[in-house]
Amino acid sequence: MSADILSCVVHKFGGSSLADADCFRRVAKIVADRKEARRLIVVSAMAGVTDDLVRATHVAGKRDFGYRDILQAVGDRHRATIADLVSPTTAARLDEALDRDLAEIEEVLHVTTVLHGYSRNGLELTSGYGEVWSARILAALLAEQLPDVDWLDARQVLVVVRNETGADVVWPVSRQNTEAWIAKRGAVPSTLVVTGFIAATADGIAATLGRNGSDVSASIFAALFDAEEIQIWTDVDGVMSANPRLVGEAVTLDTLSYDEAIELAYFGAKVIHPNTISTAVERNLPILIRNTFRPSHPGTRIQAQSSSTQHVKGLATVESIALVNVEGIGMTAVRGTAQRLFSALREENLSVLLISQGSSGNSICFGVPAAQADQARDTVERAFFAERHHGQIQRVDVTRGCSILAVVGEGMAGQPGVAAKFFSALGKANINLRAIAQGSSERNISVVVDEADTQRALRAAHSGFYLSDQTLSIGIVGAGNVGTTLLRQMAQQARRLKQDFDVDLRVRAIATSKKMLLSDQPIDLECWRQALDARGVPTDLARLAEHVHADHLPHAVLIDCTASDGVSGLYSEWLERGINVITPNKRANTSSLEYYRRLRQANRTVGAHYLYETTVGAALPIIQTLRDLVQTGDEIFEIEGIFSGTLSYLFNSFDGSRTFSALVAQARELGYTEPDPRDDLSGMDVARKVVILAREIGMTVELPDVNLKGLVPESLTQGAVSEFLAALPKFDDDMERLRGEAAVKGEVLRFVGRVGRDGRASVALSSYPTSHPFARIQLTDNIVLFRTSRYNENPLVVQGPGAGREVTAAGVFADLLRLASYLGATL
Ligand code: ADP
Ligand code: ASP
Ligand code: MG
Repeated sequence: MSADILSCVVHKFGGSSLADADCFRRVAKIVADRKEARRLIVVSAMAGVTDDLVRATHVAGKRDFGYRDILQAVGDRHRATIADLVSPTTAARLDEALDRDLAEIEEVLHVTTVLHGYSRNGLELTSGYGEVWSARILAALLAEQLPDVDWLDARQVLVVVRNETGADVVWPVSRQNTEAWIAKRGAVPSTLVVTGFIAATADGIAATLGRNGSDVSASIFAALFDAEEIQIWTDVDGVMSANPRLVGEAVTLDTLSYDEAIELAYFGAKVIHPNTISTAVERNLPILIRNTFRPSHPGTRIQAQSSSTQHVKGLATVESIALVNVEGIGMTAVRGTAQRLFSALREENLSVLLISQGSSGNSICFGVPAAQADQARDTVERAFFAERHHGQIQRVDVTRGCSILAVVGEGMAGQPGVAAKFFSALGKANINLRAIAQGSSERNISVVVDEADTQRALRAAHSGFYLSDQTLSIGIVGAGNVGTTLLRQMAQQARRLKQDFDVDLRVRAIATSKKMLLSDQPIDLECWRQALDARGVPTDLARLAEHVHADHLPHAVLIDCTASDGVSGLYSEWLERGINVITPNKRANTSSLEYYRRLRQANRTVGAHYLYETTVGAALPIIQTLRDLVQTGDEIFEIEGIFSGTLSYLFNSFDGSRTFSALVAQARELGYTEPDPRDDLSGMDVARKVVILAREIGMTVELPDVNLKGLVPESLTQGAVSEFLAALPKFDDDMERLRGEAAVKGEVLRFVGRVGRDGRASVALSSYPTSHPFARIQLTDNIVLFRTSRYNENPLVVQGPGAGREVTAAGVFADLLRLASYLGATL
């Protein structure tokens, strides 16, 4: 045997690992693959069986014969599992034992109906059978595959004294019983299946260790059989930073100290029972939490020292809490208030989960399980009867409907800033805190919140500690050319941005005009289209905004890749709610000045950013350049440019070799124009860009104020595209004449938008000398000239491709990263 092979290990399989026949087979495989010399397999009841047995007992206590149906179903489920797993002979033997047990339960429940109720003895007897059945089944299954397998009913050896919530082990007797059992058997088998959860009293009465007690059985049997390690097998990869059912972003923890694990378990992380740990600590046994459904995962190791340097390990919540507040200005005068208070509560066996006392001493508040609230209040009233009478204690209030949220981590001790992070995350999510307590170990900080806020509070606090501050919850509206290209570009870059810059881009919503996909987890950008097809629901932008603006994620951003008025009309609402907006859609900035001002205002009032670099010249740095000039105090005299890729192309190619109408037809075929070329030739798109720039420099321009001279002949504005194209050649002579006149002067035609310091904005066809920058552009290039007090003689020029899906999407992506850097990223 090699040195690292242990001689004895306890493996505990919970109900979730034993839900059906497939689960039993999976567990048997894990057991068969084990290398240690000897193993104890502690099992829970099949998932849900303990609940069924408890329910049957309650029902019988109310004289409801429905308990028979429950038992019937429980019996059927076990019979089916047995039939699926073992040979017919073995099955017959197991069925017979099962029927005997069910008959015994029937008898007890029958008496229960007669007596109109049951005792603790009755409940603990009936509710413990699930473990007996799963132990018998697993042992039989293993015996068919492995040598030397046996099983043990824990009630034969484990003796306990019951307490309020469970039971205390009577160690000397349990040890003697165990030794006697081994002696009688001759040796400990190499694989011993043991029932979890159940035990017996010294009088031989069936008892249990309390709900979730199989975890505790694992460490008890590890002690009784001198095991060297405990492995708790369940349905998650290990102990996670929060309950993964409540927090999608929870991560698996590699290691935890015993103390951290106890605190997390105590505050509701049901993945492990706190008593399991306290029993293991005495023998310094490591506990591993592992996933039955993913045995290759190493899981979480719980040991004396936590080896990680993380300050905060996990968060947990306890619901159904009542807060009792004892208050009085005379309380400071009452000696030993706290001590009297808590000893009175202890005498009544009330479990105080949290205590908080103001330093003035005028009030003490504590949290108890809601079910104990009345008893707690009565106890306080009684204990301080005289003080209440004399008015030193004025009030004893009970607030129900609360829960506790606890942050746990050894590294918190002496670490300033942890509490600040916790409270600021809760503050940002608008969570009302009713009480705050910090354990003196500084291993945990707990707050009491309204029960309705529990999950929100947990998620917000979790993201405060676990998510990058630059985690962006992203929604993309419009999945046409630009939207689709953007998603592809993001898919290629997301991992690098996360790794190198801690920018975590999470696309959580994608909408087309008909369908939308909302997802809690980041959408896989490699296959979003399939997901949208499969899981899409009718588009509802209010719901989409709500979803993206999740308050457990630090920031939200909506990207509008449509050209729709309907969407741009929602920006103000989004921005005012704190959602950042990025858009290549020109509609919002060219609607009324009042609306435009509202959008710009949102940044000042709620801090939401509104970015629209791609509304002019796609990804070319036009808006940003202009902003830099204005903000650094430059004076803008004139902005002049070619802002339409289509018109740029048409006039670059218009050299007399082909007619203008032929060029339009060709450009349309190459996809350089809108489906209806009049949308480009009208100049409206250029006018919109001119308005955007004019407003950027503080001019109060509305779209109709632009002096627009378009290129669509008056007589051709109506009618179908085909009619327009057919009639356009009639105007070729006019265009040719203009070209000729310019050529004579040594000039070329260009379609230009202009904003002057005189407050005028215009869009028209003009001619420029061949030495002018406008004359020397390529293909669909855009070009902008800024004449300012600094760049007067020689204007500042921005030039390059200013249209097309790749560059537009890249420009939107750049806005997204600009947003991340406004939010603190160092890119
Ligand atoms: P078993 O049937 O194996 O005993 P339980 O249902 O009792 O399993 O415990 C496992 C469950 O505990 C997980 O499925 C998870 O929902 C819940 N849980 C709560 N808090 C945590 C946490 N911090 N880490 C992992 N699981 C947790
Ligand atoms: N079966 C018991 C319960 O459901 C014990 C356990 O699963 O740990 O509480
Ligand atoms: Mg459990």
